[in-house]
Amino acid sequence: MKSFLSGNGGILRLIAFLCATSLCAEAYAQTSGGITVRARGVSGSEHINLKVGGVTVANWTLTTSLKDYTYTGTAAGDIQVQYDNDATGRDAIIDYIFVNKETRQAENMSYNTGVYGNGRCGGGSYSETMSCSGVIGFGYTYDCFSGNCNSSSTSSSSSSSSGTRCSGYVGITFDDGPSSNTNTLINQLKANSLVPVTWFNKGQNVANNGSLVALERSVGIVQNHSYTHPHLTSLSYQQIYNELNQTNQAIQNAGSPKPSVLRPPYGESNANVQQAAQALGLRLVTWDIDSKDWNGASTAAIVSAAGQLQNGQIILMHDGYANTNNAIAQIAASLKSKGLCPGKIDPSTGRAVAP
Ligand SMILES: [Zn+2]
Repeated sequence: MKSFLSGNGGILRLIAFLCATSLCAEAYAQTSGGITVRARGVSGSEHINLKVGGVTVANWTLTTSLKDYTYTGTAAGDIQVQYDNDATGRDAIIDYIFVNKETRQAENMSYNTGVYGNGRCGGGSYSETMSCSGVIGFGYTYDCFSGNCNSSSTSSSSSSSSGTRCSGYVGITFDDGPSSNTNTLINQLKANSLVPVTWFNKGQNVANNGSLVALERSVGIVQNHSYTHPHLTSLSYQQIYNELNQTNQAIQNAGSPKPSVLRPPYGESNANVQQAAQALGLRLVTWDIDSKDWNGASTAAIVSAAGQLQNGQIILMHDGYANTNNAIAQIAASLKSKGLCPGKIDPSTGRAVAP
């Protein structure tokens, strides 16, 4: 079995075999495993963890030659490879990961807190080398191999992706959580494969419901929506800065990566808001389509609003309304019929792109 399973081709043949024997549907009903990390160490004692959606799903001790390390369980969420035992003479080299039938090269990944650059750990990016304990973020994964995978054939990092299922990407966003509604909404998102989404969390809610952040991360990306939801334009620069910084801290304390996007409450901004956001590395993003769920819109009206979404656009919805929860199935079906897939919000452009 060892040679049969070795390498990506072997895994795909195994999946094909399982599918042919009708075990496929059951084994991959929600998400399927198969994340390979190709890596080596400089000393051979380096230890790495594979984290998906904030949970460590596998860990390995590296040798000094490049090898494939494969996790075959189920998983969903953002993928990180974490190097955790930095010491003199130790460096982890992560060549690439292989997931959802595609290769994601470490040097194409912007989020790398283990690279040494500009005189400090985490001071660089786009590197295979982790000289410090830290993580490389490899993007998002949800369902795969089953052929019913929203993000299976696409990646911001892949040059060979076919993109056969997705003719474009839209930003599905929910503001003001996490809350007592979050569980219900996430169940709808999972049931309809409407993932990944973007959560614009209130820092105060994160501080009160930290455990829900991991759940949010299993279907999307967590971003900043201020701490107390004030009209930021009526605050001083320092007050604005504190609102945004406290929220970043709360989100990071809950185990999520540092936010890269800010949606100011009510979409209101001015020069102080823009400068405070910039100082904290946050891109201001509002929306193209307002579902008006905050104003009592019916489920049908929310579905209709989502029906206007075009490639690259973002819709505003909220975590907290039954009408929004009840709209998810129809929104998913409508987008699918047009070949539009949920994407992530690119912090460099503010547009929805492949996750
Ligand atoms: Zn809000």
